[in-house]
Amino acid sequence: MKLKDRLLKIYLILEKTYGVQECFLRHADPLQLMVSAILSAQCTDVKVNAVSPGLFRKYRNVRDFAGADIGKFQKDIKSIGLFRAKSKNIINACRKIIKDFNGRLPFEMENLVTLPGVGRKTANVIRCHAFNLPGFPVDTHVIRLTNRIGVADMENPEKIEMLINKNIPKEYWCSFSQLFISHGRNRCKARNPDCANCEIRDLCDRMKVF
Ligand code: SF4
Repeated sequence: MKLKDRLLKIYLILEKTYGVQECFLRHADPLQLMVSAILSAQCTDVKVNAVSPGLFRKYRNVRDFAGADIGKFQKDIKSIGLFRAKSKNIINACRKIIKDFNGRLPFEMENLVTLPGVGRKTANVIRCHAFNLPGFPVDTHVIRLTNRIGVADMENPEKIEMLINKNIPKEYWCSFSQLFISHGRNRCKARNPDCANCEIRDLCDRMKVF
């Protein structure tokens, strides 16, 4: 079966299984999503969603974040892993948004990745969930699943992103990433994947029946 056909079949089965997915990080605007996405590195979305409402009540716009006292900010997000580095990145990213982008979060990939703490994954999360633009965020679930299923044979997130971009229409990119993440959390966990009950087992290299 051609890779494009296989990916599309996987997409349709996962969509039927999990439905249309909202962004896992709660946010009211693009800036809030950027902050949450930076906080979510090596941390669960649940934990970030527990901290972010209080944070967004205290820091209401880009100037509030840019002018934050780093010591106080660190205390505000102390329950999140890597809070020191993340505090610095969020404050510096907001200062750069004011200085270089007139106070508005950019939507272009080449501009987003210039912001401290924003790599391609975070930039794609922002592009697809905040700006409704094409983007395929690659996180650890996506890397694990694409390699286990056998549609990718690589650990490099950018290469996986390019592979999906080449083989799936852009209107599916964002939801495909969400669906991979859901499947990674529910069925294809890092330890003990539930292959016996897996909805896409017939399309997975681990089972090799197609
Ligand atoms: S068959 Fe197993 S390895 Fe393949 S996607 Fe399903 S749970 Fe993951």
